[in-house]
Amino acid sequence: MAKKLHPHALVIPCPYQGHINPAIHLSLKLASKGFIITFINTQFIHSQITKAHSPSSSEPGLENIFSKACESGLDIRYLTISDGFPLEFDRNMNSLPFLEGLINGFSNHVDKLVGELVKEDCIDPINCLIADTFLVWPSIIAKKYEIVHVSFFTEPALVFALYYHFDLLEENGHSGSHENRQDIVDYIPGVKSIKSSDLPSLFQNSVVHQLINKAFQDVRKADIIIANTVQELELETITSIQENHKFYAIGPIVSANFTKLTISSSLWFEHDCTQWLDAKPSGSVLYVSFGSVALVNKEDILELAHGLMLSEVNFIWVLRFNVLGQDENDILPVGYKEKVKDRGLIVPWCNQTRVISHSAVGGFLSHCGWNSVVESIWCGVPLICSPLVTDQLANRKLVVYDWKVGINLRDKESITREEVSDKIKYLMNEETSSNLRKNVAQVKETFHDTLATNGSSNVNFNKFVEELKMKIS
Ligand code: UDP
Repeated sequence: MAKKLHPHALVIPCPYQGHINPAIHLSLKLASKGFIITFINTQFIHSQITKAHSPSSSEPGLENIFSKACESGLDIRYLTISDGFPLEFDRNMNSLPFLEGLINGFSNHVDKLVGELVKEDCIDPINCLIADTFLVWPSIIAKKYEIVHVSFFTEPALVFALYYHFDLLEENGHSGSHENRQDIVDYIPGVKSIKSSDLPSLFQNSVVHQLINKAFQDVRKADIIIANTVQELELETITSIQENHKFYAIGPIVSANFTKLTISSSLWFEHDCTQWLDAKPSGSVLYVSFGSVALVNKEDILELAHGLMLSEVNFIWVLRFNVLGQDENDILPVGYKEKVKDRGLIVPWCNQTRVISHSAVGGFLSHCGWNSVVESIWCGVPLICSPLVTDQLANRKLVVYDWKVGINLRDKESITREEVSDKIKYLMNEETSSNLRKNVAQVKETFHDTLATNGSSNVNFNKFVEELKMKIS
């Protein structure tokens, strides 16, 4: 008699913070539906997380989270493999050798691992590969070992559609630099119109361009695609993608504090801001962060610093140690921290979801990384958008122009301190921002409703699970 197969998925995120976080939550959700999960991190990411969660840290690291999950009856296993580079290698998002290596070296290690884990003499052989859409090679490995391939897109459907139809953008002359262009792109299926200045920026970089292009050839072969978005908020785009693919919107896949387990998968030590926030009036604090990888130029940092000072609002500013792309200790004007010390807390990293879910936070000045957008809306916090690269520009379109839950910081390349201060004052003032706040409360409700029993994302997630189980059996 044939052996009964347990659904067992190997989950592989892209080795970046904004991809690891949603992959963890997806894993927990799938495990709660009876899946065995083997979660893969690269050895480098594992060493980062371990360093960030030293014994003195109050947060449990990833292994502890998963072992806690196992104690509560879930079956989540954790493995680390090499990404093909020595630990000390520069893994900056802008490091082209690293990006190229992710295509070749990393896939060889994954291939070997999958080869081991599918063997029939394993106790629970894996029968499904859930891999980040940007990984370029998952369909090749899934096909080789005859397992189901689920592609996990951590960004909105709008961005999926733009990358998917890159050939159309190229044919129409929209694959180059979009700076200062305001013409409208209206020929992408499922995207009624988007300004060329809101198109993802990375088409200009040839290696990243190649990588995205390959990833979006690979995703066409996936058995199922799931995305961190909400059907009713991107209906037209999702419906258009669904003409060619099994595509399920299962978002918002929200992080950390929003599940029963306290989770921290931070790659850097989290400074605790709670006490500081507890002492501030409700809604009075602006949270400022540019995510985990984007680089900001020094002029913008200085204008931002002065703008924050001029605005006179309370703020927490996450100033990553490598935000300029190189180590530089004294980025801020001399004496700045002293001048703002009563109302400004500057930290290199924090637990973002914990900060923005605090009642003292009333606004988020963000680079518009998709997780940041989702987390902010989930907490009902309106945004000031300062997108820098890649999907952030298209995400801004959803935030500012479609859902109207945020305002744009920059219309031009550079920003001035006066502009920064004016926009901050506008957002943090209850009267001027009352419409934005109404809108964000509405979209927040949609986010929360969609995860309720009859909500679209919950229904989609259950359909996805059923379909996956059927394909596996
Ligand atoms: N984040 C955090 N602490 C910080 C800054 C960011 O925990 O100080 C988390 C944030 O909650 C989000 C992720 O890092 O889940 C960043 O992802 P996002 O998509 O917003 O931006 P990316 O880093 O990918 O550009």
